[in-house]
Amino acid sequence: MHYTGTVYRNPYWPTWPLLEITQGCTHNRCKFCTMYKDVPFRMSPMEWIEEDLGELAGMDKNSGTIQLLSANPLVLLYDMLAPIFELIRKYLPKMEYIYLAGRVTDVRNKSVEELKKLKELGMREISLGVESGDDWTLDRIHKGYHAEDILEQCHKLEEAGIDYWMTFLNGVAGREHSRDHAIHSAEIFSRCRPMVVGTGGLTLFPGTPLLEEAERGHSVPNRTTMWRGRIFPRGPTPSTRATC
Ligand code: SF4
Repeated sequence: MHYTGTVYRNPYWPTWPLLEITQGCTHNRCKFCTMYKDVPFRMSPMEWIEEDLGELAGMDKNSGTIQLLSANPLVLLYDMLAPIFELIRKYLPKMEYIYLAGRVTDVRNKSVEELKKLKELGMREISLGVESGDDWTLDRIHKGYHAEDILEQCHKLEEAGIDYWMTFLNGVAGREHSRDHAIHSAEIFSRCRPMVVGTGGLTLFPGTPLLEEAERGHSVPNRTTMWRGRIFPRGPTPSTRATC
């Protein structure tokens, strides 16, 4: 199998086969994330994808769900995704669910009609690393979109009948702005119809701008934020990390 750099496996589904169709992250600018800093974004060559599907078919032809990698494979245009989905069905004919993650902006390059066709090919559920519905917070962490974009793109998914998860990243606004982060996120998320809103606690990883800001005293982490194995500035071992 071809796996490049960090491999993120959805912790809720630890047994699904993983197929890498892209490497890295197209955005790579979120101020809390180092996951793909050293991996330039690119689409995997079709020969790699086909080779890996052959290998997966030899292991388990009966698997019903597959997770596509890496950070945001959803960014690929319809004309790139559809042939990959067809290839998956050729090698793994019992595959009913093709699960992939993406950014809110990755939905923008697809029409509702294209989303419906991708659903017919298996993309019934996706995960969006939304993090916040508060514009100040989204700007602060360089997420690259605003609350109105979340509404617009999520409503397209709803019209296409595609289920989606959204993430809320607790602590990412700092103590001074946490209240607005929570209230505005609740307002925006309530205007969408996600299957699940998953929350995670922020970890300040070495090498991230958010950690540098906290260390210089430019922001005050809230009481659940993790830093180098401790709650910032002191506390027990962390168990969570932020992902797209
Ligand atoms: S959080 Fe997601 S979108 Fe942001 S840089 Fe990391 S992988 Fe990319």
